[in-house]
Amino acid sequence: MTMKRLPEYWRLLGDLEDYLTDGYRKPHGPPPESAPDDFPDRATEPTEAGSSVERRRRLAELDAEIGACRKCALCKGRTSAVPGEGALDPLVMVVGEGPGADEDASGRPFVGKAGQYLDKWLEAIGLSRKTNAFIANVVKCRPPNNRDPQPEESAACLPYLGRQIEIVRPRFILTVGRISSALLSGVDVGIGRLRGATYEYRGTRLVPTYHPSGVLRSPELRAPVWEDLRRLRKLLDG
Ligand code: URA
Ligand code: SF4
Repeated sequence: MTMKRLPEYWRLLGDLEDYLTDGYRKPHGPPPESAPDDFPDRATEPTEAGSSVERRRRLAELDAEIGACRKCALCKGRTSAVPGEGALDPLVMVVGEGPGADEDASGRPFVGKAGQYLDKWLEAIGLSRKTNAFIANVVKCRPPNNRDPQPEESAACLPYLGRQIEIVRPRFILTVGRISSALLSGVDVGIGRLRGATYEYRGTRLVPTYHPSGVLRSPELRAPVWEDLRRLRKLLDG
């Protein structure tokens, strides 16, 4: 041992003595200014942005927001808001007008007579809300006595549909009925004149057709609806 290194050993000896007397109770001093590289920045593993888990989470958040929404007068009459339901990345997002009595009671879209009929239309062209379709409405709360939504009610609610489209990312939109067809296509003419062509809403192609409850009342509309559905299927396959 050289004299030159003696202070170093002396310090080490002091450290050892500190350790033996105070052990783990010795204060460690303040933590470093910046977090170590491996310091976790969240409680759970990150979910990949855009993963289906993450998108389902965003959709559930949006549903909760809609459930508590008071942006228009329709909130007053609702039992449950009806945000919509179905598959992510669907081939088709169906957009109706607004919830009826059955939908208001259950919180689910198109579950009454018209809804069951709509499910048959979808099935006829290989679609289902369980696997490859999503069902939504222009307004998420039931208009009293099933009256048409007022323009200010549609305008207040439409941003929710926009966010749903953004999260769900449908290949096509199928608007059913005059209200959603005119509103989303931006062409304010009756559904009879509107149908037969393809439009666009927020960058997604849109096919309009009659509303299933209209077709239940007027069976002569079945043929044009079938034409529209077959055209939609061709567009999906093309
Ligand atoms: N009619 C609609 O337009 N939407 C529904 O959800 C039910 C009936
Ligand atoms: Fe809100 Fe739409 Fe319901 Fe109006 S209809 S209260 S905007 S969720």
